[in-house]
Amino acid sequence: MRPLNDVRGETEPASVNGRARGVLERYAALLPVTSATPALSLQEGDTPLLEVPRLAAWAGVASLYVKFEGMNPTGSFKDRGMVVAVAKAVESGARTILCASTGNTAASAAAYAARAGVTAVVLLPRGKVAGAKVSQALAYGARAIALDTGFDAALDVARGLTARYAVELVNSVNPHRIAGQATAAYEICDVLGHAPDVLALPVGNGGNISAYWAGFRRYRDLGRTRSLPSIVGGQAAGAAPLVLGHPVESPDTIASAIRIGRPASWESAVAAATESGGEFRAVTDAAILDAYRQLARREGIFCEPSSAAGLAALRASVAAGRTPAGSECVCVCTGHGLKDAQFAPALEDDAAPLPATVEAVAAALGVAERRGS
Ligand SMILES: *Cc1c(COP(=O)(O)O)cnc(C)c1O
Repeated sequence: MRPLNDVRGETEPASVNGRARGVLERYAALLPVTSATPALSLQEGDTPLLEVPRLAAWAGVASLYVKFEGMNPTGSFKDRGMVVAVAKAVESGARTILCASTGNTAASAAAYAARAGVTAVVLLPRGKVAGAKVSQALAYGARAIALDTGFDAALDVARGLTARYAVELVNSVNPHRIAGQATAAYEICDVLGHAPDVLALPVGNGGNISAYWAGFRRYRDLGRTRSLPSIVGGQAAGAAPLVLGHPVESPDTIASAIRIGRPASWESAVAAATESGGEFRAVTDAAILDAYRQLARREGIFCEPSSAAGLAALRASVAAGRTPAGSECVCVCTGHGLKDAQFAPALEDDAAPLPATVEAVAAALGVAERRGS
């Protein structure tokens, strides 16, 4: 690990007197927090930044870290922005928040609404959301409404509703979401002591890539870091509007969290990739699942398949000679593997069970007997 010797100015401690601080408290000075903002928290943020040397070798880069955002309270990075959006909604007097979601936004909105004592309504594209995410939203007490369409049209309905009715939109077009999500960039810089050369992440609606770019620029402008990373955005090949340069009518991929054909934050996502000297890269579902398995098997990091699209894109970018192999890279793994475990290798139900004896299991494993026994 590098010494933390090139930090300028202050870094933000994750805890004070042994008490963990959530995003709103830790980064209050960089967020739209006023004296009237409720101190909402599920102790989100402060997620692991893991050095992953075996994965670095696989991706073909000199140095690689994984920012494991699946370790947030509801299992995805959405919590960073949601805590800010819900706190600001409550501050403004809202009693109901609303979002359209591919799953993780719904789970996060439902959790923070419960914590804040307000109602969450979540619009879900029917049959296109991982089951565990729907269970989460319902368990937190959200009102879930299935719509007979994909995510993009569901977001249109959410925006239309909040324009005309007294409900607060907490999708990532809400600027408080982006401000909160930028804290992940602050954390990376606080831990490394500098900005990495490259940041890679999956891109769906484009909110998160915009938030990271804003966050890295903010820290550089404050003098806390000197450089800015190139940002590599991974899109699923069947849902890659930002790679193609035009919307995709019927996005299709196993990566349900990024199955989006019309990114709501299109312009700011493009600005992040181009201004940073990075790129968008399309990766096949097979490449996404390969990266997903490598994360789990090489380093013990279980993320959901969509989360691995950033790593798949980084590896492809290095292979194409676009990202230099000598770079220090950070890959964001956006959500936890238990949310969408259907693609994890399952025990084969039809494999014949063994007799429940030590000898039978030892014979099946082919392990050597201890000397002297
Ligand atoms: C929301 C989400 C994304 C995509 O983020 P955008 O801000 O929509 O680009 C990626 N991965 C996971 C797990 C998500 O929940």
